[in-house]
Amino acid sequence: MNPIVIVGGGAAGLAAAVFCARRVGGERVLLLEKQPRVGKKLLATGNGTCNLSNTAAAVPCYHGNNPAFVSSALSRFTPTDTVSFFESLGVKTEVRENGRIYPLCAQAAAVLDCLREEADALGVETRTDTAVKALRPIKGGVNVLTETETLCASAVLVAAGGMASASLGGSTDGYDLLTAIGHRKTPLFPAIVQIRTEKEAIKAVKGIRTDAVLTLKRNGRTEAVSEGEILFADYGVSGPAAMQIGRTAADWERRRQGEMTLSLDLLPTLSYAEVLEDLKRRAARPKRTRETMLTGLVQKRLGQTLIKAAGLAPLSDSTQTISENELKRLASLLKQWTLSVSGSAGMNAAQVTAGGIDTADVDPETMQSLLVPHVYMAGEVLDIDGECGGFNLQWAWSSAYAAAQAMTEGLV
Ligand SMILES: Cc1cc2nc3c(=O)[nH]c(=O)nc-3n(C[C@H](O)[C@H](O)[C@H](O)COP(=O)(O)OP(=O)(O)OC[C@H]3O[C@@H](n4cnc5c(N)ncnc54)[C@H](O)[C@@H]3O)c2cc1C
Repeated sequence: MNPIVIVGGGAAGLAAAVFCARRVGGERVLLLEKQPRVGKKLLATGNGTCNLSNTAAAVPCYHGNNPAFVSSALSRFTPTDTVSFFESLGVKTEVRENGRIYPLCAQAAAVLDCLREEADALGVETRTDTAVKALRPIKGGVNVLTETETLCASAVLVAAGGMASASLGGSTDGYDLLTAIGHRKTPLFPAIVQIRTEKEAIKAVKGIRTDAVLTLKRNGRTEAVSEGEILFADYGVSGPAAMQIGRTAADWERRRQGEMTLSLDLLPTLSYAEVLEDLKRRAARPKRTRETMLTGLVQKRLGQTLIKAAGLAPLSDSTQTISENELKRLASLLKQWTLSVSGSAGMNAAQVTAGGIDTADVDPETMQSLLVPHVYMAGEVLDIDGECGGFNLQWAWSSAYAAAQAMTEGLV
């Protein structure tokens, strides 16, 4: 009997290898990884702490041409199943803020080690430095071509990931393998990615971290909102809150329809009226210069930048000469500092690829190709991307589980 061949030793591929091996024995599973080691991207997840799932994982947390595609796989392998699965591997987990699930030890390396050790212990053969170059459907299976040999597979699972973050192994290989046998691919663009804005306005605030509410607007209409920590960079805005909505900037960038702006509410806990009142009090204090006027309200460099942006320079001038209209302008900037957007920081900086293999040609129950028998796919190679917060790894586990169940059906 020819083995089940899994292309890609990342999150989905490793999990699928374990799921298959637990059902039919590892000797019937062959895992091919083109890099010298499996799981390179997995190691980098959650800044090395691996946000491996989210208790809220459900259709609304996913994007793609048909987000409902995730429904079946997610309902058959839920975040609770993820927790039990990792528990069975020896990885204890904990739920943190916003339902994010992490290993208790906060180490992505532990998640990877336990997956790899389980695959090894079950007898899965893993070949690294082995890039799959092509798939050739044959009667009753698929020929899998590497640089040096042709392997006959009873079924093949393409879990080659997306093209985000090339330094961690992101590439177009998975799409290329599948489009070469007739699958269609939707447009690819970065997701969970930093936002590029006009540079001059933010030059002086580079390196500052603060909490804010971010709003991306196209032609003045709100397209995405997020709240949380941001980090000003020389190219634009980074940090979790920016990455969360970076997909919208990237999607706009590839279409270039209309103008996109990013508004920052730097004092989200205060209303505009409260900010204005506070500014009036600050301006009225005797013997104060504009240089320190916002000290204690926002970070010093950020405050000075906004005072200049409001046209209140020179900073050495007294606060008492600021007019009511000027104070209103400053309050508006604190509540709605608007920067023009030029796009995202790009695919290499992104955590996830939006777009991918068109799910219209894939069975959502089994992850099987509807076009080519014996071909399955899982993980990021599909036109599915999740929000930031553990949803992408949950998709990797759930889709791997659905594929593994189907590939081993009839073999058990
Ligand atoms: C910096 C960073 C942090 C992230 N943090 C999180 C997080 O905390 N939580 C979360 O849910 N998601 C996170 N993600 C996203 C998550 O890592 C991915 O969505 C997930 O790894 C996708 O799993 P996958 O198995 O589909 O692809 P991958 O994990 O990318 O694995 C694909 C594997 O296939 C191999 N491969 C490719 N082509 C071939 C070929 N031709 N032949 C053989 N092998 C091949 C690759 O080398 C790779 O090892 C993060 C991503 C990045 C980049």
